[in-house]
Amino acid sequence: MQRRNVIVVGAGPVGTVAALACARHGLSVLLLEKEDRIDDSPRASTTQPPTLEILAELGLIDEYLRVGLIARTFQFWDRPTLELVAEFDFARLQGETAYPFVVQTEQHKLANMAIARLRGMPNAEVQMGARVTGLSQDGETVTVNTEHQTLAADYVIGADGGRSTVRKALDIEFEGYTWPERFLVITTKFDFQAAFGCCFRNYMADPQEWTNLFKVAGDDLEGRWRAVFNTREDEKDEEALSDAAVRARLSRIYVPERERDYLHLNLYAVHQRVAKNFRKGRVYLCGDAAHVNNPIGGLGLNSGIHEAWELAGLLNRALRGDAVELDAYEGKRRPLNIKYVQEQTIANKKRLEEKDPALRERRFLELKQMAQDPQRHKAFLIRASLLESSR
Ligand SMILES: Cc1cc2nc3c(=O)[nH]c(=O)nc-3n(C[C@H](O)[C@H](O)[C@H](O)COP(=O)(O)OP(=O)(O)OC[C@H]3O[C@@H](n4cnc5c(N)ncnc54)[C@H](O)[C@@H]3O)c2cc1C
Repeated sequence: MQRRNVIVVGAGPVGTVAALACARHGLSVLLLEKEDRIDDSPRASTTQPPTLEILAELGLIDEYLRVGLIARTFQFWDRPTLELVAEFDFARLQGETAYPFVVQTEQHKLANMAIARLRGMPNAEVQMGARVTGLSQDGETVTVNTEHQTLAADYVIGADGGRSTVRKALDIEFEGYTWPERFLVITTKFDFQAAFGCCFRNYMADPQEWTNLFKVAGDDLEGRWRAVFNTREDEKDEEALSDAAVRARLSRIYVPERERDYLHLNLYAVHQRVAKNFRKGRVYLCGDAAHVNNPIGGLGLNSGIHEAWELAGLLNRALRGDAVELDAYEGKRRPLNIKYVQEQTIANKKRLEEKDPALRERRFLELKQMAQDPQRHKAFLIRASLLESSR
């Protein structure tokens, strides 16, 4: 049995970055993915400055920028009145990062890019259609079972998403809760920027039903918009996905009747959960396998990539014989996820859905004042972009 330094389970954006980072350290790496191809349904796209710094270190940044859209600003809107409440500008982060902007690049592009690099490296192997079914370990070796083979590694990184087989095999609790509503993503070619002058990242508050509105490049680089809505708690999936309900939702974000055709629908359950442990023995959890959150603010995937990067460095040092504290990863990353990802995404959601008129006004006023005060504006961006947590 060929033994690898590291086996990474799951070729999502986090697993592929973890595998590429390990391979670039010179470690022997095997990446296992259960699907035959990378899922390209609309999911994350917002890439924050510290994540762009990591992609630059991995040699991916030029390609990444080429297939994405640069978004320097994001805006808060009052949806019922279509009033712009506040705008935040990443240009204020000049000097703090080489990338004072966000890039909207769909996550499947990152995974495919990293896989292409891995395929060109002699110390890396990628197996698609290889579902991990279980694993076991002793003090020296982790044994990984797929449907067709038994594999061995010094360390395993479980980056196999929210329903992680690795997490379940380790019997690690996924603490937290699931929101009662679901989120619906409508992809459309309607040009919201031309229609009402918004930017590429917009958060639209409404006590009845809020909307996040983003522009992405698309595989054809022609551009398209994703509008994310909450469903009603009692709304059935069939109703939310019905043509009439979708068109009604588009009407509520000011799309004229003749322009309400759409390209794609995606309805999904949303959770706030953090694994009780990020490591057991020689097996680590990373990305959605370790934590899930609502996507408002674009933080979950970014934090997963930061973990992948850090973990690859830690395992490299351990495998080279440096004295490293293997628990340092969990000791640092778990509290960071709770403070910067769970707390912020929950606050972001509350801000959009606030029903109390007085509190709603107060939140809008806070945003306006923050945007107008240069110091608070910058401090807000440093936190919201995960620069604070990654420093
Ligand atoms: C609609 C939507 C919008 C989002 N928007 C944002 C955003 O704007 N910003 C942001 O930061 N985050 C966002 N997120 C969250 C983001 O998509 C996830 O955080 C991200 O996909 C996590 O990446 P991952 O690599 O950890 O897991 P995944 O992308 O779930 O990848 C896991 C991989 O493991 C594979 N796998 C699973 N089980 C096995 C097994 N047993 N054996 C082998 N392979 C296996 C899967 O097939 C998959 O390829 C969004 C999520 C959704 C649903």
